[in-house]
Amino acid sequence: MEKLLLEGNRRKAVKNPEYITKIAQIKGISGPERKKLENLSGIFRFRSNDYYQSLIDWGDPNDPIRKISTPNEGEFLESSNWAFDASGEESYTQVPGLQHKYKSTALLLVNDVCGGFCRFCFRKRLFIDHGDEVVKDISKGLDYIKNHPEISNVLLTGGDPLVLSTGNLERIIAQLREVDHVKIVRIGSKMPAFNPMRITGDPKLLEMLSRYSENERKIYLMAHFNHPKELTKEAVEALSLLQKAGVITINQTPLLRGINDDPKALSELFEKLSFAGVPPYYVFQCRPTKGNEMFAVPMEEAFTIFQEAQSRCSGLAKRARFVMSHHSGKIEIVGISDENVFMKYHRVPKGFAGKNIAVLPRNSKAFWLDDYENANEALF
Ligand code: SF4
Repeated sequence: MEKLLLEGNRRKAVKNPEYITKIAQIKGISGPERKKLENLSGIFRFRSNDYYQSLIDWGDPNDPIRKISTPNEGEFLESSNWAFDASGEESYTQVPGLQHKYKSTALLLVNDVCGGFCRFCFRKRLFIDHGDEVVKDISKGLDYIKNHPEISNVLLTGGDPLVLSTGNLERIIAQLREVDHVKIVRIGSKMPAFNPMRITGDPKLLEMLSRYSENERKIYLMAHFNHPKELTKEAVEALSLLQKAGVITINQTPLLRGINDDPKALSELFEKLSFAGVPPYYVFQCRPTKGNEMFAVPMEEAFTIFQEAQSRCSGLAKRARFVMSHHSGKIEIVGISDENVFMKYHRVPKGFAGKNIAVLPRNSKAFWLDDYENANEALF
């Protein structure tokens, strides 16, 4: 009977997902736990929807979807001095709403809302107080892009650009398409996981994307699946429709304690993505961001899990790189020996040149580059 009710709720949620923003609306959390979370939930915002919540097995306290989306006491640990902006993103803000760190790629932060708020988000500062990192009027960002012919890629991010109406998103993409040197428009979005019906239920969105994803100037959807459970029938359908519209789909995810820190789950994610025509692109070391302590895995352990997961996959499913988005650049961890960890800069900010390969003494407790002694000297 209960199973039938759950299936009924899921069918309703699939047809017309309803957003929820209050702990009291989470059906799977009861009395004392709900009270405790309501008292704590003031700091990091909560947003989900009944479709995504329907993927949770409430009988399993370790359910990965629950961990991704539902507030928990761990968020409020004051155990570390981790910062809100672990990668110093704000320092690369050139004009309000635009970051430019790597020569060919600019980021336009087009909103400060997502389909849901991931509990491990490294940008949760934006959802609390975004200052001028996110702006509604992107005209200054567009002028900056026009005046920088080296920018061939623009990533629309935030927040999640697919929260915008199709009309508003088109206005942004159309203006970017007027800039000859911008070849690739990337849309960073977890909507295919949080609410695939945003895509499957909006033919105008698909038609618009197909118009602007041109033969030599593609639109990329940078999806954000963290666990294979998110790859539901609806999510795979959304990916397939995007592909039919000429959008290139790829995936990136951080490696997260309790969510995908298991080679079996991670390899299943890689494989299922590859079956759906979505190459795994990056696996990120979890940024040491305030409130994310419970999701962090020490870097060498994370890399070992990543390698083990890749070893279980076909070639097409193991195309991801394991990287750390450090303030000084995007650093790829390329190997580990008994004594050393080997890294190299995958991307460096404009004007910098990183060494080819850096060899650092191992530190099993390191969560970030700065935890390694003399790391900067070794890399530059
Ligand atoms: S979808 Fe991305 S930006 Fe939005 S909450 Fe999740 S991690 Fe943060």
